[in-house]
Amino acid sequence: MKKSSIFFMLILTLMVGLIVGCSLSINDNNKKEPDDDKKVVTEEPTDNTNPDSENDTTPPVDEEKEDDPVTDPAKEDEKTPEDEEEQQNEDPEEQKPDKKGNADQGNEDAIQVVANPASIEVLVNKQFKLPDNYSPKDLVYPNVRFIFSEKVDKRKMRKEAATALEKMFAGAEVDGILLAGASGYRSQATQTILYNNYVKRDGKEAADRYSARPGHSEHQTGLTMDVSGSDGKCAVQDCFGGTPEAEWIAEHAHEYGFIVRYPKGKEHITGYQYEPWHIRYVGLDIAKEIYEQNITLEEYFDAVPVGAN
Ligand SMILES: [Zn+2]
Repeated sequence: MKKSSIFFMLILTLMVGLIVGCSLSINDNNKKEPDDDKKVVTEEPTDNTNPDSENDTTPPVDEEKEDDPVTDPAKEDEKTPEDEEEQQNEDPEEQKPDKKGNADQGNEDAIQVVANPASIEVLVNKQFKLPDNYSPKDLVYPNVRFIFSEKVDKRKMRKEAATALEKMFAGAEVDGILLAGASGYRSQATQTILYNNYVKRDGKEAADRYSARPGHSEHQTGLTMDVSGSDGKCAVQDCFGGTPEAEWIAEHAHEYGFIVRYPKGKEHITGYQYEPWHIRYVGLDIAKEIYEQNITLEEYFDAVPVGAN
């Protein structure tokens, strides 16, 4: 009885459960099914939200993918301001030499305009400048070989220096050295263009090591010539140093009244890097003394009493 009653009770509960379950399932398909909802919710949300989320995300992803090529030019647009920012970042870096330049400009208070621009002994450097737009009155074309054919200003020198240059080139040729002019007189306007281009290219700090500021170039005096070998190779370049032509100039220029104006090892005095090609006419006496004492024009004038100038 107990087993049968228990079995009966089980069947009853199963039957009731089935009936109730069917009725609930029939009725609650429209209404309840909390469990099914939960199941559906638990199943569908995961399945649905994934595709939904995929559907939700894929369009944005596709939009993003579409945006990628779209934003590529946008990014390129962003890159240009970034590049501009980088350039702006470089600008302050370039402002460092500017600040140093400003420091130099602080020294510019000490810059003096030379009183004797037309003297063959004139000292022109970073401290001493020529009067604005000074131009020598006795510029001529020296009758020497040049590395270019144009008859332009940079062939010119002042008459006395031009004559000395002709003698020097002739003397070199006797020794088997064929020299050629590369650059002589240069107006302040031309120097301004050159210097500004160098500053744009290398920055002011670097440019100041090899290029004179307007009014500070010896080339403006008409007493200077950049000299090359006749083939023009290494003209006005570091590789001119050590060539037979450079060695000849170093040994013999003073015999004609010229000095190598920016010697090696004197950069801290002249303010310019070694330029074996840049010769300056100072006359026989000064050239000989500077050569024999192995000094610069700056040192020469410091050594000579002011009254003797
Ligand atoms: Zn020069």
